[in-house]
Amino acid sequence: MTTEPALPSQTSADARWMALALAEARRAAEAGEVPVGAVLVRNGQLVATGRNAPVARHDPSAHAEIDALRAGAAALGNYRLDGCELFVTLEPCAMCAGAMLHARLARVVFGAADPKTGAAGSVLDLFAEPRLNHRTQVQGGVLAAECSAVLQHFFQQRREAAREQAEPLRDDALRTPAERFDALADYAFAPHYVQDLPALNGWRMHYVDEGPADAQAACCVCLHGPGEWGYFFRHLAGTPGLRTLVPDLVGFGKSDKPKREAAHPLEWHCQVLGEWLDRVAPARAVLVHSAAAAGLAALLQAARPGKFAAVFLAPEGGEPVGAAWRAPFPDRGYQAGLRALGPIASSSGPDAAQAALLARKVRNAMGYSAP
Ligand SMILES: [Zn+2]
Repeated sequence: MTTEPALPSQTSADARWMALALAEARRAAEAGEVPVGAVLVRNGQLVATGRNAPVARHDPSAHAEIDALRAGAAALGNYRLDGCELFVTLEPCAMCAGAMLHARLARVVFGAADPKTGAAGSVLDLFAEPRLNHRTQVQGGVLAAECSAVLQHFFQQRREAAREQAEPLRDDALRTPAERFDALADYAFAPHYVQDLPALNGWRMHYVDEGPADAQAACCVCLHGPGEWGYFFRHLAGTPGLRTLVPDLVGFGKSDKPKREAAHPLEWHCQVLGEWLDRVAPARAVLVHSAAAAGLAALLQAARPGKFAAVFLAPEGGEPVGAAWRAPFPDRGYQAGLRALGPIASSSGPDAAQAALLARKVRNAMGYSAP
């Protein structure tokens, strides 16, 4: 890579052009294409824009860079793009790097590196190949965080859509839209789902599974009660060195919401939890529960004797969490679990300091010395 340190004025100009390329990338995402955008610039003037469109065009070469190079060459009436700079949100692939060299591009500036197909240093570096005649200057990492965030968001949405298709919702249940939870900045844990346990009857249960998954790690099962959901344990989940498993009872949190109140006997919830535990955490664990979950915790202990090295009641911290408790229930249709088992919680869950103390108790109970 023939990367040279950029001057401050050039840096801000680069960021400005990259922002334009990012706008093109977002347009590609809106069209269902992998969001990569590009702009072609000469003498500080915009010559052409391009965005990724191989799906719509049935064209494997319809990358943002090729799109911009084609439009730019047409606009300038010349297949040689001497003196032009290309700004692209993602490190170019070998095809696009080749096209840039053919076009005699003066400079290419990219945003995010592409460890899978990048041909400007990541997988290979065509621009540094001494046997190739033309020299194109390369600069990477301009607005890299924004550029890769656009890509990550796109792929995350695609994975979620695929999962919704693979895990269909039963007619007699509702599924809370994911946006309802997006505002909860302190609950950005990766979602896990299970749908094929016998007791689940095809409803989908959500759980958080943070920390080391190996059998050697201290493992803590966090049980919320009626009217609450896994958010109760937001400060405990993700404690370093501790595996935290936080299920949302069916009818609560991010789990499916059966429409009928009759779906909610506590014994049934206990059966689901038992099957789920056998699946995700066959080794011994510590059970931590909210005050509201005391009844369910007792049932679960009786159903899985010897499973829990200790059982702890999680303390109340007193943080205001009203909006979070309402998030799972957009309207009455979602609230059968509340009607069957009890209203929306007024609890708040352990605060950060209490959670740290609780984590230490869990580790001690499992024979780990506190770090
Ligand atoms: Zn490409």
